[in-house]
Amino acid sequence: MLGCLLRGGCSPLVCLLALLLPLASLQRQSQHGRRGHAVRDRPKLLLVSFDGFRWDYIDRVPTPNFKIVMNEGVMVKQVESAYITKTFPNHYSLVTGLYAETHGIVANEMYDPALNRSFSMETDSMYDPRWWEEAVPLWVTIQKAGGRSGAAMWPGSDVKIHGMFPSQYLQYNASVSFESRVERIIEWFSAPKEEAVDFGVLYWEEPDESGHIHGPQSTYMDGVIVGIDEKLGFLMNELKKAGLYEEVNLIVTSDHGMAQQSADYIIELDEYVSRDLYTWVDKSPVVGILPKEGKFDEVYGKLVDANPNMMVYRKEDIPEHFHYRHNVRIMPILIEAKEGWTIMQNRTEPFMLGNHGYDNTLQSMQPVFVARGPAFRQHYVKTSMRSVDLYPLMCHILSIRPLPNNGSLLNVKDLLSLEPTPPVPSAPPRVNNDSSYAPVVGSVLGVAMVLGFLVVYIRQVTLKQLPSLRHRSREMSQPLLQGDLHL
Ligand SMILES: [Zn+2]
Repeated sequence: MLGCLLRGGCSPLVCLLALLLPLASLQRQSQHGRRGHAVRDRPKLLLVSFDGFRWDYIDRVPTPNFKIVMNEGVMVKQVESAYITKTFPNHYSLVTGLYAETHGIVANEMYDPALNRSFSMETDSMYDPRWWEEAVPLWVTIQKAGGRSGAAMWPGSDVKIHGMFPSQYLQYNASVSFESRVERIIEWFSAPKEEAVDFGVLYWEEPDESGHIHGPQSTYMDGVIVGIDEKLGFLMNELKKAGLYEEVNLIVTSDHGMAQQSADYIIELDEYVSRDLYTWVDKSPVVGILPKEGKFDEVYGKLVDANPNMMVYRKEDIPEHFHYRHNVRIMPILIEAKEGWTIMQNRTEPFMLGNHGYDNTLQSMQPVFVARGPAFRQHYVKTSMRSVDLYPLMCHILSIRPLPNNGSLLNVKDLLSLEPTPPVPSAPPRVNNDSSYAPVVGSVLGVAMVLGFLVVYIRQVTLKQLPSLRHRSREMSQPLLQGDLHL
């Protein structure tokens, strides 16, 4: 281009355009680059829950893939789940950082006297957003901040909450294999930059189902745990094949543990109080009792000292540390069985050898927790955390401002790598050529730079090559620029 100028082979207009076009192109690239930068630099996070995977399962049989994640990242020995230690309340606590009394999913089976409706995880009632909208799950928050999320069967992720589904999600279907769920998650993380998800959640029903049927002490569970470890290995391998293993922060945890039960440890409520006096809302081992109108005192009186293997609480007397009082969906009377005990109305009901829901401070109720990836330290073991602390940790990793929550980043910050997480704007900058002054300012600056450059350059060339250019110097320096200025 400069050669062309010196040779006088092109017109001044063409030369100036030749200089300006790359600048304009650079400006466009810069805009795209900023958008791309925001998307590319937002850290990636995949949260995996193997339902009912108790904290100590990883040590009872060889679990090489869990050990790899531990060695390459972090492990927390004891995680205190939220009370009650059931599936729906805890999966919602993991993605909101709230105790159940605050996020509103207080049990797997609920009654809301204000709505006069019942909720069951077994029915379509769970798709009514009103049950979920006392809180905002992380996938909604990240999407409102300009990010994208993907959910494979996570409880509540196929419900339209605050007007939003996850950017990508699967309708719950227990018959979809773990491998298929993983393949979809990998697709979503691997999509082109503008479409790739930043945050993924993946749910698998085991080892909970087998734990209920066989009991955690059964040797049958050994094979189930080996199978879960192989599933984790499959996930890690798929992340590697997709080139995501070093980029995606992977957290593997669960909603609760599992306690062994015995047919010898059954409490039959029919022995103590007529079932005509109350509605049985949630099931063993923490039972929500709604006395019939005017029957509270009678029901409570008959139950409170009936059996030493269950605690019977008036709602207002539920221990503070459970954070399980302040919601209309928590029933007026709560019965909590002691560890290993089952509450039934009578023995005709189905019995399970394993269950969860008990006091969340029991070791048997604690879930596994391992994590690896660029945000995490390596080969680090932490003694304990609360599951509600995971939410602020995930927000920190994703550079998302957390909503008010019951967790504490300070409690878990030692899990993080010392490398700072790059700050990311809450939303990619919106480029609007109609309303922004940036392109105008950029163009003016660009023209000014070119003109300035030409003045300096030509003066230098003129001085260096004075003999040969002397006769053209005025044409080169003055008429050329003035002519272009008119254009
Ligand atoms: Zn569960």
